[in-house]
Amino acid sequence: MAQENALFRLTVLGSRGSMPLCRSDMIKYGGNTSSYLLETRTDAIILDAGTGILNIPDTGEKKKSLLISHSHMDHVVGLPQFLTSLFGKELTIYGSTAEGLTMRQQLDKYISRPLWPITLDDYNMDLEFIEARGTFNIGDVTVTTAPSNHPGGSTLFKLDFCGKKVVYATDFEHEILPPSKRPVGAEEDTGERTPLESLAEFSMGADLILYDAQYTPEEYVRCRGFGHSTYEKAIELKDMTGAGKVILVHHNPSHNDEYMDRLSEVIRERGEGDISFAREGSVYNL
Ligand SMILES: [Zn+2]
Ligand SMILES: [Zn+2]
Repeated sequence: MAQENALFRLTVLGSRGSMPLCRSDMIKYGGNTSSYLLETRTDAIILDAGTGILNIPDTGEKKKSLLISHSHMDHVVGLPQFLTSLFGKELTIYGSTAEGLTMRQQLDKYISRPLWPITLDDYNMDLEFIEARGTFNIGDVTVTTAPSNHPGGSTLFKLDFCGKKVVYATDFEHEILPPSKRPVGAEEDTGERTPLESLAEFSMGADLILYDAQYTPEEYVRCRGFGHSTYEKAIELKDMTGAGKVILVHHNPSHNDEYMDRLSEVIRERGEGDISFAREGSVYNL
């Protein structure tokens, strides 16, 4: 496919971390939790199903796929309502087995009584689950996965299309987690390299990286082991990978627009023009 004709477009549907919020002082960056839409001319690939997924625009006849990083509530809370918009249609969900449960089994725990009135089988649609492991293709997009450094586990996704590369690195902590917080089956800490160095290798030469920056460096000291990172580490990651652009995601529910504007100013003053906080509704053409 000729590159100049290739559509590869990212839309921020929701970027709040941990909890959805609907507040007048959080309009600019948005209060809906994690969800992003990556479109080609034939495919609509959704990254995570936080409440942001309910902001999805009409993607017409494009084939819909959903990549779920992990099943923490902020990443799947929008799914049961979203599925009602797909009655009679198809959706393929890609997710990783965690804590001994497939993604389908993890979602069954949430989408069933007593937490939800109906089950996944009650949605009148064609729903398929595929284990997100290694490398696979969705249409002409090549998806590569790697384990994230997050309590309970999460999956990092790299999406390649026509020479353009996007990395989705949400719910990622740059320092090694204490043994009690590590996902079941995680590799032993050999001390050879940090999670940030492993992510940098995975993301080398990316055009766009979505990076978890929930905490300020000061907050991180108090929240070590919670599974999130900082804008400072995003700056390091950009330098290590030569990435074209880094978008900071998983906004702290206690950071309002005014506070995030001030953090943006700090980042700008450090000369980092290509690092910015995701804003709900923003569109990036790759
Ligand atoms: Zn999260
Ligand atoms: Zn999480």
